[in-house]
Amino acid sequence: MVSVMPCTAKKYEIQRNDDMKSSGYQDVDVSITTRELARMIKQAGIDMQSIPEEQPDHILGAYSGAGTIFGATGGVMEAAIRTALKLVTGTTPPRVDFEVTRGLKGVKEGVLEVAGKQVRIAVAHGLGNVEYVINKVREAKQKGLPPPWHFIEVMACPGGCVGGGGQPYGVTDELRIARAKGLYQEDVAGLWRCSHDNPYIQKLYDEYLGKPLSEKSHHLLHTHYTPRPKYQR
Ligand code: SF4
Repeated sequence: MVSVMPCTAKKYEIQRNDDMKSSGYQDVDVSITTRELARMIKQAGIDMQSIPEEQPDHILGAYSGAGTIFGATGGVMEAAIRTALKLVTGTTPPRVDFEVTRGLKGVKEGVLEVAGKQVRIAVAHGLGNVEYVINKVREAKQKGLPPPWHFIEVMACPGGCVGGGGQPYGVTDELRIARAKGLYQEDVAGLWRCSHDNPYIQKLYDEYLGKPLSEKSHHLLHTHYTPRPKYQR
């Protein structure tokens, strides 16, 4: 199993601890970055423009727009909202685009109406912006107030994975915006825009995982985090 990632942190994560080895073995054998893949393609003399288009292999090749937009800041939250709306209301959401989660503003805050309830959200990207969110949560806790948000998304890299540490060098905000735009275009152009509409995800739950948050899915799809010291030179 080889994963191609915008992220250098995945190289560490694949061998992190037994939580990442749900099958009993290391789930991912090798993790390379998009930058490394691009370099390998160039070194091999492959001209991508002249290769005919092909459909990806099943089953993991089938994807929804909700998955595609994970690469942009706010994308994970937008994808989760699409499915949460369906699960909470039981009906297909009237809209699946949520502008409030998009863009490069350091912390994006908003209120969404879900089944008659006001859901407060915050999206932070770039670790400098996370401090603001954490301080607000701490402040509310100290005052005995409810948390300022129900749902918070944090992405370590500015712009999210489109500006990840494994992406081609020299990323600027202009490039982050252009890459995110590409993802949102793919989202609109795809067959499915919500994770729960992906027939392979449905099949996976029907035939193996049971249901979202089942004991099995919790065990296989979630992990735990523990403090670890900063990298020492
Ligand atoms: S935001 Fe950055 S650190 Fe987080 S998964 Fe994406 S590339 Fe990796």
